[in-house]
Amino acid sequence: MILLDGKKTSNDIKDEITIKVAELKKQGKKTPHLAAIIVGANGASITYVNAKVKACEKVGFDSSLIQLPEDVSEAELLAKIDELNNDDNIDGFIVQLPLPKHIDEHKVTLAVSPAKDVDGFHPENLGRMVLDLPCFLPATPYGIVQLLDRYDIETSGKDCVVIGRSHIVGSPMSILMARNNKVGNCTVTLTHSRTKNLTEYTKKADIIIVALGKAEFLTADMVKEGVVVVDVGITRVKDDSKKSGFRLLGDVKFDEVAPKCSYITPVPGGVGPMTIASLMMNTLQAIDMK
Ligand code: NAP
Repeated sequence: MILLDGKKTSNDIKDEITIKVAELKKQGKKTPHLAAIIVGANGASITYVNAKVKACEKVGFDSSLIQLPEDVSEAELLAKIDELNNDDNIDGFIVQLPLPKHIDEHKVTLAVSPAKDVDGFHPENLGRMVLDLPCFLPATPYGIVQLLDRYDIETSGKDCVVIGRSHIVGSPMSILMARNNKVGNCTVTLTHSRTKNLTEYTKKADIIIVALGKAEFLTADMVKEGVVVVDVGITRVKDDSKKSGFRLLGDVKFDEVAPKCSYITPVPGGVGPMTIASLMMNTLQAIDMK
């Protein structure tokens, strides 16, 4: 079993981006600038946003963190998005999800200019992805593609099962794995909560991408020997032995599944860091696309 080390791979990508940013600066070009909007004080969201800002600093990007109160109105948030859309200094920005219930997430996604949508959630970017046109790929699926690519994992002709059909992970992931690309050319089955006899699908799969948000859901009896498993899930569980008071669990029962795998991502240290690296890659791409 080989561990798909997202932490190391994301650091490699960040090192490559650092060199490119230094070159841009040397040529007197603009320093890439990523902004992030966060609404409210959700602990996990703050951790993710801070990690993104820290990654920006590491590669030499400029970054701005815009913190809005939990009770900010939808109109105020949309006005802030409009401001960032029209700010030439900002090359890309994200609105950290989830948003409070009184804000319509779809409206927010549609408000972000596709040219600055480095999370790759806007329908224009998703449509361009389907058509194989240049676009910002959604950050988490893009990170997974990068990880599979950099470990040279053969995907062509393989059976891939994706568990979970969210708009930000499962659905785009299924499209990317089926595309005619180096990482792609799989026969993909997209499964969800209404799928009957899920194990019948997972048992036959060469590659399983698990993104349903249920801790330790995928167990050893659900997979075949030699499978490649990518675990997207992140669930915080109380753990008094940790300084933070919690630990992170993936959607895969790692200890029992890992011995059957040819490759597997750990949690933490797998897909999470790759999502951040993709965001950096998309921000650099935003400069190129200008
Ligand atoms: P989501 O929007 O909650 O979607 C979950 C999906 O799982 C839904 O499509 C749901 O089906 C499906 N599902 C639920 N129970 C199932 C079951 N028993 N069998 C098969 N499918 C089932 O989740 P998400 O936003 O994609 O996130 C999934 C997980 O990934 C979460 O733990 C999240 O924290 C994590 N995540 C991690 C990263 C990262 O960078 N590592 C990024 C994003 C998300 P229905 O559609 O039928 O309801």
